Amino acid sequence: MTTAPEAISRLAELIRENQPCVVLTGAGVSTESGIPDFRSPSGIWAQFDPREYATLGAFRREPEKVWRFYAPRFAMLTEAEPNAAHVALAELERRGLVRAIVTQNIDELHQRAGSSDVIEVHGSIRTSSCPGCGSVYPLAEVVPLIEAHGAPPCPACGEILKPDVVFFDELLPEDAIMRAVALAENPALLLVVGSSLEVYPVADMPRSTIAAGGKVAVVNRDPTWADGRAELVVRESAGEVLAAVVAALEPPVEVVDYDPEWPRRYEAEVARVRTALGEVIAAEHIGSTAVPGLAAKPVIDISVGLARAEVSPGQVAAMEELGYEYLGENGLPGRLFFRKDVNGRRAYHVHAVEHEGDRWHRHRALRDYLLAHPEEAAAYAAEKRRVGAETAGMSNYWEQKQPYVDALFPRAWRWYGRG
Ligand SMILES: [Zn+2]
Repeated sequence: MTTAPEAISRLAELIRENQPCVVLTGAGVSTESGIPDFRSPSGIWAQFDPREYATLGAFRREPEKVWRFYAPRFAMLTEAEPNAAHVALAELERRGLVRAIVTQNIDELHQRAGSSDVIEVHGSIRTSSCPGCGSVYPLAEVVPLIEAHGAPPCPACGEILKPDVVFFDELLPEDAIMRAVALAENPALLLVVGSSLEVYPVADMPRSTIAAGGKVAVVNRDPTWADGRAELVVRESAGEVLAAVVAALEPPVEVVDYDPEWPRRYEAEVARVRTALGEVIAAEHIGSTAVPGLAAKPVIDISVGLARAEVSPGQVAAMEELGYEYLGENGLPGRLFFRKDVNGRRAYHVHAVEHEGDRWHRHRALRDYLLAHPEEAAAYAAEKRRVGAETAGMSNYWEQKQPYVDALFPRAWRWYGRG
């Protein structure tokens, strides 16, 4: 067993170097969202006999009784919010570091946090089905039926709906289990989070992974059978551990030599942006990629001059068609900001400003000053390389570089004739 912070850097390294990584989550991931672990010694199944409330037999005999038990729990599950652990796992998937999540939870919190490949081996509250006519209803339609009737009747035929969670005497959903079994044999790393590995068959996933030559890491407050065979065991809060791991895995900031391709990429992209936005009075290549000799993150900055710094929903939609995300002023009044990633990396920034307005000239001032002063450009490039090498993550990069830019800009503004 290891504790933070060595555990954090070790887990980050395991994830980075053992791809693909598949995650298995259990109740421990959702307890930090206020959802109790039904199976813990103080949990619901210690107070209520699951044979009376969570079996198909009980549901067939007395569906009203089963729903009296489930209704308040449905309300709790729908009101819960994803916590830091769900958010961190979604971010790791977004960065290509998590392939899929196999979960024993029924609360949908992984999907609500943004994870897209989630295999729910115990079903979920997302839908309820009619045992009579087979109709399937989404949660949003079932909740009002529960509120009105207690046990929700099928709007089509009147039979009482069954939640699509797996009851104790039910077979697990075959597709999900087959997918989970296949995933267990596949990963270089199986990361177990918040599961005590007591419920089969997913409790066997670590065995399959190890047998196939993969590694296992466990983040769980309580011991599990797999601890002795895991590369790493962390018995701490899943949210805190995973959030720290995400921070440790921030990609380093890439500062590269000037690339003569950059102006051509600008020309090609600005033509598309002009078409999307229409009404463009003028556009300029700004930022470091516009200055030959200046090292930079390979992000092309495009300054777009409009009659006013305003965009219509139609213009935003046309930019989204090009792959841009619209971020509004994003902390800089007078500028409307669009960002496009290519292959998961920031590639283009579009700054829409008032043509010939203050923001328009500020962009040009810095670029033209650096073009006219190669020694300043060289010094700025050196500063960028120093900050890029010393910091992990884009937010740190901006913060560290800003004092240098704040000192440089007044010189540029004076030289430009506006300061
Ligand atoms: Zn029906």
